[in-house]
Amino acid sequence: MKYFSTNRKSPIVSFKEAVINSLPDDNGLYFPDHIPVLDVKKIAELRNATLPEIGFEIMEPFVVPDLTKDQLQTILADTLNFEIPLVEVEKDIFSLELFHGPTYAFKDVGARFLARCLAEFSKDQNRESTILVATSGDTGGAVANGFYGVEGVRVVILYPSGKVSELQEKQLTTLGGNITALEVESDFDDCQRMVKEAFLDKELNRSFNLTSANSINIARWMPQSIYYAWMCSQMDFPENSLIAVPSGNYGNVTAGMLAKRMGFPLGKFLVCSNENDVVPRYLESCQYSPSKTIPTYANAMDVSDPSNFPRMQELYHHSFDSLSNDVQGFSLRDMDILETINRCNESNNYLLDPHGAIGYAGLKKHLKEGQKGIFLETAHPIKFKPTMELALGKELEEPVFVEDLMSREKKSVQVGSTLEGLIEVL
Ligand SMILES: *Cc1c(COP(=O)(O)O)cnc(C)c1O
Repeated sequence: MKYFSTNRKSPIVSFKEAVINSLPDDNGLYFPDHIPVLDVKKIAELRNATLPEIGFEIMEPFVVPDLTKDQLQTILADTLNFEIPLVEVEKDIFSLELFHGPTYAFKDVGARFLARCLAEFSKDQNRESTILVATSGDTGGAVANGFYGVEGVRVVILYPSGKVSELQEKQLTTLGGNITALEVESDFDDCQRMVKEAFLDKELNRSFNLTSANSINIARWMPQSIYYAWMCSQMDFPENSLIAVPSGNYGNVTAGMLAKRMGFPLGKFLVCSNENDVVPRYLESCQYSPSKTIPTYANAMDVSDPSNFPRMQELYHHSFDSLSNDVQGFSLRDMDILETINRCNESNNYLLDPHGAIGYAGLKKHLKEGQKGIFLETAHPIKFKPTMELALGKELEEPVFVEDLMSREKKSVQVGSTLEGLIEVL
């Protein structure tokens, strides 16, 4: 498979080059030059397959010949070693629980796949590489965990000061070793911009051998398609479903769209945002107009200019009609997030996290008679303890892992929101 840049000015590259470069130098995003379609028989066979088996069918065409079959199988077995249950929350509404990995958020899937690909690729390189990653909350922890102790790789995480939950912050600031956390005096969009600027600075890029672990990187983005195919394999008539995806940078939902293009009979998509609703507004008006980022209870989705938007355009051949035919938008205000968490707990005894709550609320509004709704539960509710307690009006019991994490000491380096600050730390 070859990859081109969505801006179409950079050279075509292999899987390995796309992973290592992360970002083409024309400031576009890498995208596969064709999307393989699995035949109906193959898809039917996958109904009884395991997650790594489904993963293999999806990822193989995208990674050959840069990874061997054996390498891919090992990477997948390692990446997907936790459960992704599809749980019935109430009649016709299901939760795809993506938070059973080591850092309790769906980001574990992509981050671990990427970490293991890079570990393979760095075996034939003899210089250290630096992974740069901007996080709105969960990516940092998942990437830190995925790369912790990997030789020849240094990880630098940029996170917006005071805008991630305490537990999220602990996950990314307490490992030490090859992981450095930078606390940026600004919001996530600025962190993301700093990472992009660092990549586009050729000199800097070369001297530090930079790679990005954000969903701009194809090895983080594409494996997320696997759990959409998995979900399909668990359902009768998946084509008649509405899939609600809590979205910030739109990596997750565009991976679902990719799975659909590969032939998996997925239904329609409902992209769900908090008050940072640039894409739902776009779907209404065909006008893409980012506004300033607003902090919300669903902090991992506090993104005003999502980096995967060009991939969404690419997946629907730049046709607003075909996009808006398949994809609807929904957004929810902070007050209603709290209300939704409380209501769902009272009526179903099911704890939604603030992000999943937006997906659930979207289904309650848009699900049609006879349709099945699935929302992606993107993180464990305990990661957002203060918000959960505010919503529920009572204290939440802490699982053991929380106590352990909270007792560790935070280590971070504070920087302003300029590239110079980042360079100094590097
Ligand atoms: C990252 C994240 C999201 C948003 O996912 P995107 O792929 O950026 O759209 C949603 N919920 C949680 C809990 C997250 O960590």
